[in-house]
Amino acid sequence: MSERYPAMPARNPAPPYKRIATEEAWLPPELMDRYKKELEAKNIQDPGFYSLWGFFASGSTPKARAHSSRIQSLGEERIADMDGSGIDMQVLALSSPGVQIFDPVEASALAREYNDQLAEGIARHPDRFVGLAAFSPLDPDNAAKELERGVKQLGLRGGILNSHTLGTYLDDPKYWALFEAAEALDVPIYLHPNTPSPQMIDPFLPRGLDAAVYGFACETGLHALRLVVSGLFDRFPKLQIILGHCGEALPYWLYRIDFMHGHISVTGRYPNVGPLKRRAWDYLCDNFYYTSSGVGWAPPIQYVQDVIGVDRMMYAMDYPWQFVADEVGALDAMNISDAARKAFFEDNARRVFKIT
Ligand code: MN
Repeated sequence: MSERYPAMPARNPAPPYKRIATEEAWLPPELMDRYKKELEAKNIQDPGFYSLWGFFASGSTPKARAHSSRIQSLGEERIADMDGSGIDMQVLALSSPGVQIFDPVEASALAREYNDQLAEGIARHPDRFVGLAAFSPLDPDNAAKELERGVKQLGLRGGILNSHTLGTYLDDPKYWALFEAAEALDVPIYLHPNTPSPQMIDPFLPRGLDAAVYGFACETGLHALRLVVSGLFDRFPKLQIILGHCGEALPYWLYRIDFMHGHISVTGRYPNVGPLKRRAWDYLCDNFYYTSSGVGWAPPIQYVQDVIGVDRMMYAMDYPWQFVADEVGALDAMNISDAARKAFFEDNARRVFKIT
């Protein structure tokens, strides 16, 4: 093995902290069936959906079949995997793209149905699961109401937004009822990857770069930055967004994003880009949490802890999309303080998702 991939240390079977995995995917069997029908009907204008679910809903390989079984479980199979990999709790969310490929009215009805199902699944294992509410982003008043219903009536701990919705990004204020509700409810919105929007996916597809290899990060990082520079956080200064995959690389770009946005926002070069109340740097530190999903490797995790803060970096596995049991042992062994390790695996998630 090369030095970049050190041998995985054995997982500590009884560490002095709980391990809470914060970006874990679930797909109801009914939604899997809907995806299969849409894949055949080919009415949806989103090439990324066909690329991703065309493979994973096909059942054509052992990998696709195992994934399909795991992602639909809210019971024994999932809990056995959690026990086998040392995960005490999962924060569950409807898998990408969730209901966001359907027309806004249908998506609203489906979000409600699946949030009810998720809450029922959580109620059967309340010591193992909490969850996030799905909603229809292009139906913003309904999305706000569904988030509120999910939090107040179903006990969900925030919302899940799978990046673009049929090519639409939420930096336009006409969609901000959702964010207003999230701030008022004091719950986070997890800005989770989707495949690149129809406008940007073409150059990714021929080399298979549209999904987790790179496209997810480009798409989701772009969406996050559109929110930052739109002034969203000036309007809702307490709003908290969560980014996976060590922040979709945005923390690495922090200096240049901040420097260059500070420049273009005062030159008048772009008609819709003006100065914000704070620096881009400040929003990315104070309005975002970050998780390690899909990155079972200490250097970028420690980097986010260093530049953003130990209190804003949380563990996630990205089960079952990237179910790598060995990463838990590698991250148990990170060369950081015991307090930073407990913050990463447990304390931050308890605070952000109100897990008692
Ligand atoms: Mn994920």
